[in-house]
Amino acid sequence: MVEIKTPEQIAKMRAAGLVVAEALKACREAVAPGITTQELNDIADKVITDHGATSNFRAHHGGLWFPGVICASVNDEIVHGIPGERVLQEGDLISIDCGAILDGWHGDAAITVAVGETAAEHLQLSRVTEGSMWAGIAQMKKGNRLVDVSRAIESFIRRQPLPPKGKWGIVEGYGGHGIGTAMHMEPHVLNYVAGRGKGPKLIPGTVLAIEPMVTLGTPHSAVLEDDWTVVTTDKSWASHWEHSVAVTEQGPLVLTAFDGGRAELAKLGVTAAPDPLA
Ligand code: MG
Ligand code: MG
Repeated sequence: MVEIKTPEQIAKMRAAGLVVAEALKACREAVAPGITTQELNDIADKVITDHGATSNFRAHHGGLWFPGVICASVNDEIVHGIPGERVLQEGDLISIDCGAILDGWHGDAAITVAVGETAAEHLQLSRVTEGSMWAGIAQMKKGNRLVDVSRAIESFIRRQPLPPKGKWGIVEGYGGHGIGTAMHMEPHVLNYVAGRGKGPKLIPGTVLAIEPMVTLGTPHSAVLEDDWTVVTTDKSWASHWEHSVAVTEQGPLVLTAFDGGRAELAKLGVTAAPDPLA
């Protein structure tokens, strides 16, 4: 069952989403050679606390405790990296995933940031991943099916010129999800088309986290001995972008983007829904 939200509930999710946006903005501005992933975690923690929100990351997930309020995944780490003493180096590529609960409603989003100057192919990797996220978000329209989102993400990636070395790997086994009164809810959102099912119809009040994960090589991953960190099996670098997005009568509303997704969706010819808190 997909949890369908009322417009009033979507407004509450918007407030939670904006806390996540603030936390990620603070992290992005702090990323530089020499900072540790724990310091980034603590920056996000302060933003969440200052807004009267709590972390949905620092919790048990399927019986496993995650100790951070962000996931910090560097280079060949795809997702779920644990913040700690790792010092960021010039040229690294870090994906930062963050979430928050405000008034019982969850937000979840992720960005990829270059540490200082990184190789052109790593910037290209991040741009392709982010672009595929927006292509998926643009399909978050009333009457579409879930598969339209998955197809848009995959076909955007497949359309890109190949990187100089390697290829685009769409990570298998991980994807987006419904979100609302819990962080991870039905349905699972594949970042590619698999099988013949079209998935549920996207009706107003559906809220999904759209989160493509792309590598410069393999689609295959492994989990490190820390039980959390997901890495590529071929050491190729990865990027992860995510937004929490509501389907509304007036179009997609990107809950975790400051402008509700207006600017990026306009580039794709899609009008974002008005911000219920504006
Ligand atoms: Mg996330
Ligand atoms: Mg998520």
